[in-house]
Amino acid sequence: MSDNSACAETPKFSWPTIAFLVLTPPLALAGISYWFYAGMFNWATLVLFLVMWTAVGISTTAGYHRLFTHRAYEASWPVRLFFLCFGAASWEHSAWRWTMDHHKHHRYVDTERDPYNIKQGFWHAHLGWLFKEREYDHASPLGVEYGKDALVRFQHKFYYPIAIAFAFLLPTCIAALWGDAFGGFILAGLGVVVINHHFTFSINSFCHWLGRQPYSDKHSARDSHFLAFFNYGEGYHNYHHEFPNDYRNGIRWYHWDPTKWLIRILHSLKLVKNLKSVSAELIVKRKIAMQQKRMQNIVVNKIPSFAAMAEQMSNLAAEHALSAARRWSELKKEYAALKFQKTAAMRAQVQEVRERMKSARREFELLFERYANLNKGFLKMAAA
Ligand SMILES: [Zn+2]
Ligand SMILES: [Zn+2]
Repeated sequence: MSDNSACAETPKFSWPTIAFLVLTPPLALAGISYWFYAGMFNWATLVLFLVMWTAVGISTTAGYHRLFTHRAYEASWPVRLFFLCFGAASWEHSAWRWTMDHHKHHRYVDTERDPYNIKQGFWHAHLGWLFKEREYDHASPLGVEYGKDALVRFQHKFYYPIAIAFAFLLPTCIAALWGDAFGGFILAGLGVVVINHHFTFSINSFCHWLGRQPYSDKHSARDSHFLAFFNYGEGYHNYHHEFPNDYRNGIRWYHWDPTKWLIRILHSLKLVKNLKSVSAELIVKRKIAMQQKRMQNIVVNKIPSFAAMAEQMSNLAAEHALSAARRWSELKKEYAALKFQKTAAMRAQVQEVRERMKSARREFELLFERYANLNKGFLKMAAA
């Protein structure tokens, strides 16, 4: 996919979009306050709000983002249909449009061609970019590629009826079952649209502005545990820009990434397949390269006489950590290929590979810690 003119901004303002983005937050706030203070509060409606919020939010991250744009896994049609229906309820336009914009964001990040270029300012990246009308060439190579799925084309064609039905009619009708149609509309409908808008928009604004850059500083994307908590794991954005086809954004087990957990659950239910993930070795390589660059820049500037020796020692420690990561990665692959063997003879072999994999991981962690501590020591010396 190489076409870069498939979607672009036009000079015309999109007044319906501006009105929607400007008016929905105060309307939702006023309506929810009225619902609450007029004594209409209902626990069932609150639960419905949480369910709708999750369904809509995760359809944007697991569906629009990781599935339809980055093809980080393959999904069966019921899963795709669910993501397209509830993704439409996010009021972020059709998946076909969304994917083309997001593809362009990755390809031209931080440049004028990036639709949500952070260099044009925080508010432009957050929502200002939506204020101008955009044009899409769905017949371009990029458009054709992203429109291959008949369900995606269907959702694009009937976007507004689907969005109205799933964002507003559905929660209103469900809450009407317990006599709170107004609460269903205002809290689980409009409230979800507004909250979800700003949490999703935060990926383009805050996640290119606040946080750490452990994998690369060649672009503005940043990792933040705090932001990941609010946007279903998309806060590990520095990682994501380095490895966009990985179905995970938070790679450690304790990283808050509900989108990754949902994809894993769907995988165990055999509803999705071919999950793509980057090897531990490649991740470590990128992380070490970034640390080396940072350390060398500081040490060369502060203690130039020591820079050559620091570089040599650091390179050696990095090489040890990397070769341990390589061994761990190979054993992981070996174990993944063997683990479903059921025969008694194979079971012993599987167990043995598992143990070797575990000890390779421990060895890597130890060597990586040594490497990181060595670098920290050099940085301290440079700061002294
Ligand atoms: Zn980004
Ligand atoms: Zn992305």
